[in-house]
Amino acid sequence: MKKLSIKLRITFWFTLFMMLSALASLSFLYFAGERQVEAVSSGEMVKLVEEFAEEIEWEEGELEFDEDFEVYQNGVYLSAYNAEGRLIYGWLPDGFELDTMPSQGKVVSVEQNNESWYLYALAFTPAGYSEELHLLAVTHAAGAGTVFSVLGHLSLALLPILLIVAALGGYLIACRAFRPVKKIIETAEQIVDGDDLSARINLPESRDEIHTLAVSFDRMFDRLEDAFENEKRFTSDVSHELRTPTAVILSECEYAVENAQTLDEAKESLVKISNHAEKLSSLISQLLLLARADNRMVLQKEKLDLTTLAEVICDEQAELAEKKSITIKRSIEPNLSIIADQTMLMRLFINLIDNAVKYGKVGGEVCVTLREEGDSICGEVSDNGIGISPEHLPHIWERFYQVDPARDPNQSGAGLGLPMVKWIAEAHGGSIRVESSLGEGSSFHFVLPKG
Ligand code: ADP
Repeated sequence: MKKLSIKLRITFWFTLFMMLSALASLSFLYFAGERQVEAVSSGEMVKLVEEFAEEIEWEEGELEFDEDFEVYQNGVYLSAYNAEGRLIYGWLPDGFELDTMPSQGKVVSVEQNNESWYLYALAFTPAGYSEELHLLAVTHAAGAGTVFSVLGHLSLALLPILLIVAALGGYLIACRAFRPVKKIIETAEQIVDGDDLSARINLPESRDEIHTLAVSFDRMFDRLEDAFENEKRFTSDVSHELRTPTAVILSECEYAVENAQTLDEAKESLVKISNHAEKLSSLISQLLLLARADNRMVLQKEKLDLTTLAEVICDEQAELAEKKSITIKRSIEPNLSIIADQTMLMRLFINLIDNAVKYGKVGGEVCVTLREEGDSICGEVSDNGIGISPEHLPHIWERFYQVDPARDPNQSGAGLGLPMVKWIAEAHGGSIRVESSLGEGSSFHFVLPKG
């Protein structure tokens, strides 16, 4: 059975169930029907015999039977016998012979020449008469149950046809119900065999379970395709980003080896090499962090004094900002605390302030704000620098996205800072958004839950 397809299994069980329930209902109908008919005819015989008794009188030395009373009614034959058992009034059905008077007062069934009869006898003495009379009712049992035996035979003959129709119907219904499953299998195979990640099941709208499953599969395929595309883009971006500084380092080394005549010339090359090596090293550590983030890195959360942490970072960044004559203004509420990963929060602040300084205007200012709002900490890092145009805004959170690499004064970024900031905020259960206008400045707003 396990080797059969689900469609055939459903058909098999459905047909079996139909057969059993048809047999059960027919047997019930047959037996209960016969009982009912038997009960009805027994009741009829008893009633007629009692009525018959009321029509018999002993008058003027003679037994008198009311001639208006019919001795054949509703298939029941009525007759009367004297004490010696001789028929004195009424009829017996053709083909029935009374051998012995049945026991009194109850319906009995008698077989004669392969035919069944119901008999009911009653001993009765008319008022004033000295002897006992026997009144008898006879009816043909087959007559009563005929409908049911015909029905039974007909049903048995019809049963195989009914079963064939049920099996065919069941199979067709199963085929119809499983058509979407076939589509799901075909799509999955298309994706596996042909490497075509864009294939979708796309079932027409419906609310049944298989359609819900198909929609979930389509959503899963969407995610797989996205993940695959991102992976491809990420790999090509990474190799590109790593290749550039490596190429510069190699060519600078070659140049120095071949051309540097003095220590100063060699030092000049070494400084360039060191700058690019630094960029390479920071790129590699950012990539490592993002790779760990992708692998569901576990945050090392602890209770932090956020006010002090933010102040320390602002102090450090202020020294770098001074080189561009940028002032870092602070509006940090005292005694702010948060349960978070310290290293990650430091990266978030450093990246945002570093960008604000990097893309801020000379002599401008950067404002760092931190305040408590209910169960959250709300922060803002804003600058009055070059800003970001609306068409670039939605993309700045994408890995390796740079509005214009030439805008980066030291060409030190690689477009990985903001994706990391966004990941850190979201990994803590918070969020981040940006408001910016070109030439006027940008402000990054973030919200982090306190614990
Ligand atoms: P990068 O390392 O290149 O700075 P980020 O991911 O930190 O990468 O930023 C992505 C892009 O967003 C940058 O290329 C830059 O053009 C833009 N950007 C980020 N912060 C600011 C800012 N404060 N002002 C203007 N542009 C910004």
